[in-house]
Amino acid sequence: MNDTLKKIKSGIDLSIVIPIYNERESIEKLYKKLDEALSRINLKYEVLLIDDGSVDDTFNELLKVHRRNKLFKIIRFRKNFGQTSAISAGFSYAEGEVVVTLDADLQNDPRDIPVLLEKLNEGYDIVSGWRRNRKDKAVTRRFPSIIANKIISKLTGVHLHDYGCTLKVYKKEVVKNINLYGEMHRYIPAIASGIGVKVAEVPVMHHSRRYGKSKYGVSRTIKVILDIITLKFLLSYSQSPIQIFGLVGLFSGAVGFIMTSYLIIMRLFFNQSLADRPLFILSIFMIFIGVQLITIGLLAEVLIRVYHKVQNRSTYVIKDIIS
Ligand code: UDP
Ligand code: MG
Repeated sequence: MNDTLKKIKSGIDLSIVIPIYNERESIEKLYKKLDEALSRINLKYEVLLIDDGSVDDTFNELLKVHRRNKLFKIIRFRKNFGQTSAISAGFSYAEGEVVVTLDADLQNDPRDIPVLLEKLNEGYDIVSGWRRNRKDKAVTRRFPSIIANKIISKLTGVHLHDYGCTLKVYKKEVVKNINLYGEMHRYIPAIASGIGVKVAEVPVMHHSRRYGKSKYGVSRTIKVILDIITLKFLLSYSQSPIQIFGLVGLFSGAVGFIMTSYLIIMRLFFNQSLADRPLFILSIFMIFIGVQLITIGLLAEVLIRVYHKVQNRSTYVIKDIIS
């Protein structure tokens, strides 16, 4: 009875979300592979093809797919907003009880979807693909990724070998309750840990890129470092930013106060001159920084209250929706 009710509500079991940017040559093959994999599993599905402002022939290729099979729907962005925005749009429009994300470039394999679903059915909220045999460049991509995965796992407490794998499956409640910004789609399992989730990891296939170009290079490493700082901050202190800013501010202010007191005693009772002492400048700096940090903490406290009120703003603008 419960199951029937659920079906009436949405009618769709599985939504497949695919971010696509200039992948013209892959679309036709992607369709064939998906169609084959999906026809094997007996589920009602939809495929959301998010054209992230492609400037090649991608959109026309997607239209061909849609004409062949109306379960393949297209969401087309006005311009390139980035993979995170594309995935975020997919999450908003997905109607399925379970949502799958997948790359369009054929590096992920749709045949893995049933494997991930099976794991999800064991009672997880997210099942993440692990490209155990990753087919990308070692120095610029695989090596930095190993380190990044270790750091993210350690800092967030969600231990995964491969955060960067787009092939993941999510329960609907997860994708409907998180907001993604910047390039944060890589850290969804960590972000979702903020709402309390059970995460599993399953090895998946990975193929080297046959068509088009990777949209990312070694410059991503620096971005990832900054993202990790943001992530740690949001996960640990976004509810009470004064706890971190204020702590450092109090420390700095206290040290500055002790040093200033010492200098005043030296000046008043031992007649030492202050003008040529570096400690004098340092002590004033530390008091100053202390006051500033505490003030920033208070401002952040105000911001966080506003943030929670306006969270529903999206990070993308849609050109058209074809369904
Ligand atoms: N992508 C996107 N918008 C972007 C960059 C990438 O939608 O601005 C898509 C891209 O078409 C692909 C997926 O995101 O389907 C992953 O990108 P890519 O294969 O370049 O990343 P890599 O596998 O090299 O990490
Ligand atoms: Mg790729």
